[in-house]
Amino acid sequence: MIQVSAANSPWRAQGPAWTWGHAAARFVRHHNAWILLGALAVTAVGRASAGAIGWADLVVAAAFVAFQPFQEWLIHVYILHWRPRRVGGITIDFELARRHRHHHTDPGDLRVGFMPTQTLVLAGLGHALAWPLLMPTDSLAWTALLMVATVGLVYEWTHFVIHTSVVPRNAWVQRVFRYHRLHHFKNENYWMGVTMHLGDRLLGTLADQRAVPASPTARDLAKAVGAAPTEVRVA
Ligand SMILES: [Zn+2]
Ligand SMILES: [Zn+2]
Repeated sequence: MIQVSAANSPWRAQGPAWTWGHAAARFVRHHNAWILLGALAVTAVGRASAGAIGWADLVVAAAFVAFQPFQEWLIHVYILHWRPRRVGGITIDFELARRHRHHHTDPGDLRVGFMPTQTLVLAGLGHALAWPLLMPTDSLAWTALLMVATVGLVYEWTHFVIHTSVVPRNAWVQRVFRYHRLHHFKNENYWMGVTMHLGDRLLGTLADQRAVPASPTARDLAKAVGAAPTEVRVA
């Protein structure tokens, strides 16, 4: 069951447009923000204590940035918009996908827009176990973990603030906001990236909005993927 915010909840951007400061103050009230900020602090200290930064660290950092648009695209297309299927009498579906379907139904509920905390913690533990085994040195493992925390925090913050009423002034930031809002309010089959859109550009889901028809299921993803309506609890 998904817990959603009541109509008058502080987890909804109501009233006059929020400032960036207002959005940041609300963001840090969510435990995911603390988990990610804590991970960023721990990995920054770990990397700082592991010696000087060299070219190999920059290559690792660049690889994480280069992969991020594709990570966002792949997870959004194949997991968040997952079409539940029955295998041997059992329905295969994911909490992540159920939650994302509700996020499409009620994009104004800032709390539902966060990653499920259990998924965030499990993914973090997976990275913490994997990178020391995959990297040839401790310092590169710390660099990789620092990048995991950084891209995770940037993703969670960007997605959060897009769903508030903050009005960005910078043209590049305005475009990032516009693409994700088009995904929610025009057509859920386009604009699958959140922080970066190279995945959309290369994989055919970045279109001129005037050439994209409005989708009747952009706010009803359950119908689009043939899923049962999600049970929700209002808090
Ligand atoms: Zn969203
Ligand atoms: Zn979506």
